[in-house]
Amino acid sequence: MIFKYFETGPLMVNCYIVGDEQSKEAVVIDPGGDVETILAELKEDHLKCKMIIDTHCHFDHIGGNKGLKEKTGAPIYIHPLEKDLLGSMSEMAMYFGAEAEKSPPADGFLNEGDIVKVGKDLELQVLHTPGHSPGSITLCLKDRNLAIVGDVLFQFSIGRTDFPGGSHPELIKSIKTKLYPLGDNCGIYPGHGPPTTIKQEKKHNPFLQEGAELE
Ligand SMILES: [Zn+2]
Ligand SMILES: [Zn+2]
Repeated sequence: MIFKYFETGPLMVNCYIVGDEQSKEAVVIDPGGDVETILAELKEDHLKCKMIIDTHCHFDHIGGNKGLKEKTGAPIYIHPLEKDLLGSMSEMAMYFGAEAEKSPPADGFLNEGDIVKVGKDLELQVLHTPGHSPGSITLCLKDRNLAIVGDVLFQFSIGRTDFPGGSHPELIKSIKTKLYPLGDNCGIYPGHGPPTTIKQEKKHNPFLQEGAELE
């Protein structure tokens, strides 16, 4: 497996590439922007982008959707509950004083339990993990013991829930009922910042300690 990530766009999103060495198929998760960088990273490993997936449709994650789709022809996939957000993200960008390129509409949708195949052997399992936004998804590579979680969970922090459609209780529920079962040693790869593990977050994340839910 080829697995790499790097920061892109105005809010430094982690853009992830998951590729299959044999077939050279790859998916790009949360392009974020900087399309030339993403194309160079794909090229370095001779990968062909067959799908663009947004963990959710905040403007910092969907930046680059347009350019990457134009350059690779790859379709864009999101959770159906993010459909409206995908079309209305320039307002949020303005709030951050950033410029947002409008994304093309989604070409397809991913729901809880769906499997995205990359090459013959790699399987990304889709988990619906709402709270930060209504249709946030986690992409889980079960045999590799890692999960790409978007803005659901960060090292020592969690996603903010003050944007439209956000819900703090729902976010905590997603973390505890969808991510915890992945196991203590599962690697968590967030939308911003360094990777972590379930074990580390259970122990040290202030939002996940007993009593913290009531905040
Ligand atoms: Zn977000
Ligand atoms: Zn983000």
